[in-house]
Amino acid sequence: MFLDRFKDFKNYKTETTPCKVKLSSNENPYDLPQWLKEKVSQEVKKIPLNRYPDPTYRELKEIVATFYGVKPENIVLGNGSDELIHLLITVIGEINQPVMYPVPTFPMYQVSADIIGRPKTEFPLDENFQLSKKSIDRALKEKPAIAFFASPNNPTGNSFDRDLILYTAENNVFTVVDEAYIHFSDKKDFVGEALERENLVVIRTMSKIGLAGIRLGALIAREDIATVIDRIRPPFNITYPTEVIAKTVLTEGKEEINRQIQTIVSERKRVMEEVSKAGNIKVYPSDANFFLIKVPDGNLVHRMLIQEGVLVRNMSHLKGLENCLRVSIGKPEENNQFIKAIKKVVGSI
Ligand SMILES: *Cc1c(COP(=O)(O)O)cnc(C)c1O
Repeated sequence: MFLDRFKDFKNYKTETTPCKVKLSSNENPYDLPQWLKEKVSQEVKKIPLNRYPDPTYRELKEIVATFYGVKPENIVLGNGSDELIHLLITVIGEINQPVMYPVPTFPMYQVSADIIGRPKTEFPLDENFQLSKKSIDRALKEKPAIAFFASPNNPTGNSFDRDLILYTAENNVFTVVDEAYIHFSDKKDFVGEALERENLVVIRTMSKIGLAGIRLGALIAREDIATVIDRIRPPFNITYPTEVIAKTVLTEGKEEINRQIQTIVSERKRVMEEVSKAGNIKVYPSDANFFLIKVPDGNLVHRMLIQEGVLVRNMSHLKGLENCLRVSIGKPEENNQFIKAIKKVVGSI
């Protein structure tokens, strides 16, 4: 009856098999250091939990804005960037105008479009997982109102061609650049364009740099655009504890976060080189805190890795990603266990 539309709905799936080494969700493998945890709990203790948080999130916005090098007026906060993705798909353009995105990519664009009931214009990446002008031109013919580009892209790990993202914006499409993994990349971000253009915004998240548990994302846009989007976001969408934890960590823990990011980036280089040396595994380039590999039999290798105590994300079921596995970068000892396990598994089949 009321929910018939969702009878066969495929929701966002995550990998939940318990495993000793979890390299399946692109999380930061490091929790906060103990001294910062103490600081956080002191601040959390002071929260009047019977009260609503500041509805404008003025102080948190200032801290997030400083963290990203913009002004508080350019920021809209979200309960994870997933909430911002859903909000944009709800409000940009008309409901019968398509949502455009390349495939394979982050599944939430498709999930949100399906929940709202909006048409989707999916277009293929080329054999190097790069955008091509030809397929963008074909997609633009369907008159999409909004486009999503995750760059670096999840699950492929590569960054997209800047000019083709801008080309989409220049063709009158509201263009969202999802920079969830930008901290691990040395490519130029789109903040400059977001502050200039009326129809290009950037979304960021704290989830991949150590705070997946607090659910905090941010949209960066020109002041006039950010003001309107801030007006239509759900009130009190950031919880009081999230506000307080983020304020503490983003001020006192900034250096720690940057150190962790550097370690993850150098581990990425080391692990990818090690895996490349093993035979029968194709390693794709990555600007993120994970990388993609192609193995002889994705489903089998995924299962056998679990038996070795290592959980990665199986991407084999996705079109264009046959036999591909996505591997998050963990702590050095976890990475070593992965390297050992993948060599053993692939060597045995
Ligand atoms: C993980 C991820 C997100 C989700 O971020 P949350 O802030 O945890 O909701 C958004 N976009 C991409 C591309 C991601 O990989």
